[in-house]
Amino acid sequence: MERLKGIIGSGKVSTERADLLCYGFDASKIKKPPSAVVWAEDITDVVKLTKFAYENDLPIIPRGAGTSTTGSAVPVDNAIVLSLERMDRILEIDTDNLFVMVEPGVINGRLQKELGIKGFFYPPDPASMDFCTIGGNVAVNAGGPRAIKYGVTGDYVQYLEAVLPDGRVIEAGVRTKKGVVGYDLKSLLVGSEGTLAIITKIGLRILPEPETVITLLAFYSSLRKATETVPRIISQKVIPRTLEFMDRRTIEAIESYNPSGLKDAEAVLLIELDGPVKTVQRETERVVDICNRMGASVEVADDSITQQKIWATRRAISPALYHISPTKINEDIVVPVTGIPDIIEFLEQLSQRYKIPIASFGHAGDGNIHVNIMVDKKDQKQYEKALSMVKEIFQETLKLGGTISGEHGVGLTKADYIDMEIHNNEMDLMKGIKRLFDHKMILNRGKVFP
Ligand SMILES: Cc1cc2nc3c(=O)[nH]c(=O)nc-3n(C[C@H](O)[C@H](O)[C@H](O)COP(=O)(O)OP(=O)(O)OC[C@H]3O[C@@H](n4cnc5c(N)ncnc54)[C@H](O)[C@@H]3O)c2cc1C
Repeated sequence: MERLKGIIGSGKVSTERADLLCYGFDASKIKKPPSAVVWAEDITDVVKLTKFAYENDLPIIPRGAGTSTTGSAVPVDNAIVLSLERMDRILEIDTDNLFVMVEPGVINGRLQKELGIKGFFYPPDPASMDFCTIGGNVAVNAGGPRAIKYGVTGDYVQYLEAVLPDGRVIEAGVRTKKGVVGYDLKSLLVGSEGTLAIITKIGLRILPEPETVITLLAFYSSLRKATETVPRIISQKVIPRTLEFMDRRTIEAIESYNPSGLKDAEAVLLIELDGPVKTVQRETERVVDICNRMGASVEVADDSITQQKIWATRRAISPALYHISPTKINEDIVVPVTGIPDIIEFLEQLSQRYKIPIASFGHAGDGNIHVNIMVDKKDQKQYEKALSMVKEIFQETLKLGGTISGEHGVGLTKADYIDMEIHNNEMDLMKGIKRLFDHKMILNRGKVFP
């Protein structure tokens, strides 16, 4: 590693134990210290590192903020962690062309704030937006509560600059909204979990902020009624900008962790509508009516302070759940919205059958449910039972026409299950693509494929 310090600069490379520990895990809590950490400050550093790693057959783990919940940013043996956090400049905000160019280490929430000042916004808003990076968002095709109306990260990526494992630089996509020359390499990199190339510059589409936003909280005494409300709203041709759901266990976890005044209920829907004032007023009336008919009592928030409070509550779910059990196995399955009541009922029965609690919440508007199996990893028997539950959940999800991951990707934790969804012909193609980009398996070795 001394040679690497000479090549890249000693202030950008560390083999100190404290650094190796800090960069040896992500939000999955799986731990494996790397052999070195490199903080790239520009593309030249990335090129120098990849050439060094390529010559010496050393794995590189690209890393944004390390908030991956699937272990996709966790090192493997002898790995060098490449942190992109110092490449954090917003290079260009071009509101006339609805376009921004950023470096990969820009924090999502910071971009949101900068755009908000100019009256524009970047729709993908993962709950981790205050600390995750745009590079990490692109690498896993992150989604968020607004996906139901505005789509996910991949819907906004127009251009990427990236470094291949042997140090060659590529550009994929265009600055314009349209562009169909050649294969769509940019879309291949979106969601590739750092296994194909290191993303060093990102061009994104942005939108003008809507005229108004109204937030509703609908409290239900029946979980089934709450989930049945979701397709009813959509079939009334109202597409909320968010339609989130929390079950009783999630509500209780939030209220005991950081009481925020959520009413005692079996389930709550958090619904947000945006657009021109008159349209939003009309849609609010329609949605309140649908919720009332389904037995809910509804609170309406139209001022930004109350709205921010509600969102702070929503974003606190993950830490709150850690306060009710030492380990949570967090899956992010997706089913068609009409299948939500069935999967929720299945989860309740599964929890009773295994006698292990499940807390569910998530992006009900697009069918993306975060299923949290609440266990203690130190209790080996209980943990093994929980892993059997995971398999059953995936089987049921696929039976309902869904997918085993809506936004967190595969990483390490889902690699053993990928072939439940991806079959031989498609898997051969994917492995062939990996070999074409990275025949030495330099980038994020050991991830995605079992
Ligand atoms: C509390 C909490 C809430 C969350 N909520 C959501 C949510 O609502 N929606 C959602 O989609 N996810 C959510 N996540 C998961 C996570 O925040 C996202 O996956 C996020 O996109 C990861 O970004 P990151 O910067 O932390 O990337 P990291 O965790 O550092 O890396 C993630 C993957 O991207 C790769 N990578 C990172 N940067 C680059 C780069 N420049 N080039 C190539 N590969 C790269 C890494 O190798 C790794 O495979 C949540 C996580 C937490 C802890």
